[in-house]
Amino acid sequence: LSSPGLGHLIPVVELGKCLLTLNFKVTIFVVSSRTSAAESQVIESFISLNRCEVILLPPPDISHLVKPDAAVVTRLAVLMRETRPAFSSALSALSFAPTVLIVDLFGCEHMEVADEFKIQKLVYITMNAWFLALTLYLPILHESVKGEYVDEKNVLFIPGCKPLLPEDVVDPMLSRSDQQYWEYLNMAIKTRMADGILLNTWEELEPTTLAALRDHKLWGGISKVPVYPVGPLVPPTRPINSNKTELFDWLEKQPSESVLYISFGSGGLLSNEQMRELALGLELSQQKFIWVVRPPAESNDGSFFTTGNSSNDDEGVESYLPEGFLDRTKGVGFIISDWGPQVEILRHESVGGFLSHCGWNSILESIINGVPLIAWPLYAEQRMNATLLAEEVRIAVRPKTLPGREIVGREEIKMMLKTLMVDEEGHAMRGRVKELKSSGERAWNDDGSSAKALAHLLR
Ligand code: UDP
Repeated sequence: LSSPGLGHLIPVVELGKCLLTLNFKVTIFVVSSRTSAAESQVIESFISLNRCEVILLPPPDISHLVKPDAAVVTRLAVLMRETRPAFSSALSALSFAPTVLIVDLFGCEHMEVADEFKIQKLVYITMNAWFLALTLYLPILHESVKGEYVDEKNVLFIPGCKPLLPEDVVDPMLSRSDQQYWEYLNMAIKTRMADGILLNTWEELEPTTLAALRDHKLWGGISKVPVYPVGPLVPPTRPINSNKTELFDWLEKQPSESVLYISFGSGGLLSNEQMRELALGLELSQQKFIWVVRPPAESNDGSFFTTGNSSNDDEGVESYLPEGFLDRTKGVGFIISDWGPQVEILRHESVGGFLSHCGWNSILESIINGVPLIAWPLYAEQRMNATLLAEEVRIAVRPKTLPGREIVGREEIKMMLKTLMVDEEGHAMRGRVKELKSSGERAWNDDGSSAKALAHLLR
């Protein structure tokens, strides 16, 4: 069961494909009205395979249940809760008896449906092990930390794991008085009731955290749910759309690893001022780039439910870029409006860096193509992801201040680009990310860690 949003649907579909190769019959329930072109494409890529189907659950009207300015986490949680009767009916209407229900984090609400059907229930955390550790530990932090997490003077302790900086907490932990906090706490409690937890990560990417989660002495009293790292699950490349041949023709002509790709996932938006600084920083750096541009916005939640609709005519972007920017960067940079063929771009050998909002799918897609990053976290758990990349895995440069809270200036942007694309430090990151790429591939060899974890779970 996938909650709305491409960042959820994409890894759910990839897990579905993986289970198909193991001879399972797979039905994916998607809470969606299938309004975005990109989403339709992802769904089509699955339906075209054998022994699988997709059942769309139309999103119920929740306008009377949430305020118009409610956070994305609140809206998603309420939406999923309200979908429960429809999901239960759809499950009853299947022509076969399912044996296991797998829900994503927002689908935790539906695990009780598995109990009604007397089947196994698994939670698929489409993110990393450190995020899972925080989630499982949240009910304890909830009791032990008295005020707001962001006001804590010390780091937040998570047993056996890298501690969390108060400024890096996930969005729903920013304020206890916001409904999204209680929704997240509820998901944390429900996750501990699963029969197993699947993770889109692998042993060599997060060895310490995964070892901690398995350490009965450390975690036995918190959660006994077995954890199965089955990543990296990332989409394969698709044939290039005819309206993008110009982009790929240009990429073909660029030197190896010389182009920086910039994208803020399915929901990330920059403020007007930040877009301007980014554009001017790119210009100053003189590095080649491809930038997926969206209209600027006040709030970062703005486009979560609507991106991926672009007809890709790339018109209109001029109005929110500095005057003359497109002319001045002709031949140096490529602008794509709204939605780009990310996996295909990252796969291209001319691409040598990714300025990313640090959504977990984007990170995995970057690693699996051996591309180091500039970490530009905006929302959700992305600040944690950025810290993981910059401090633990050491494959990313990051700005001195948090983007979204303060404007990152053009000079700093220029310097980060130089560090990543030109300097020795960037070379070292490229070397490390290539090692991780190999370890991610090895994880799916017959005797690889993820293949073994999945086989163990299925047994
Ligand atoms: N994506 C894409 N084109 C874009 C932006 C995003 O194909 O222009 C895909 C990207 O490849 C990734 C997903 O959308 O698979 C975004 O997921 P992620 O976890 O990175 O971020 P989220 O959108 O959930 O914040």
